[in-house]
Amino acid sequence: MHELSIVTNIIEIAERETHKANARAVQKIELDIGVLSGIEMQAFDFAWEQAVPDTVLAKAGRKINRLAAIALCEDCRHRFEAESLYELCPRCEGINTKLLQGREMKVKSLELIFE
Ligand SMILES: [Zn+2]
Repeated sequence: MHELSIVTNIIEIAERETHKANARAVQKIELDIGVLSGIEMQAFDFAWEQAVPDTVLAKAGRKINRLAAIALCEDCRHRFEAESLYELCPRCEGINTKLLQGREMKVKSLELIFE
């Protein structure tokens, strides 16, 4: 399952940062997940529940920022909200559009517990 490997990767990042800071666990984790990241949130939540017990994230609060997909037309510089990875510009119908935001999957911040 795609989502499980993503969660596993997040746990690895959290374990590494916790270890590096000599902390005990993670208090809160904030994630940026773009709407076009390919992550299915229900599957993600399920994978999270399966994978985080017995890790530094076991009791962590989780905040997820769902980032909208924003594209830019390089022909007319129009910015628009996209619904897929490759879309024509709604203003000039040009094909030179690029996605500026929406494919993210990253750990934005971690709050650690030390005591
Ligand atoms: Zn355009």
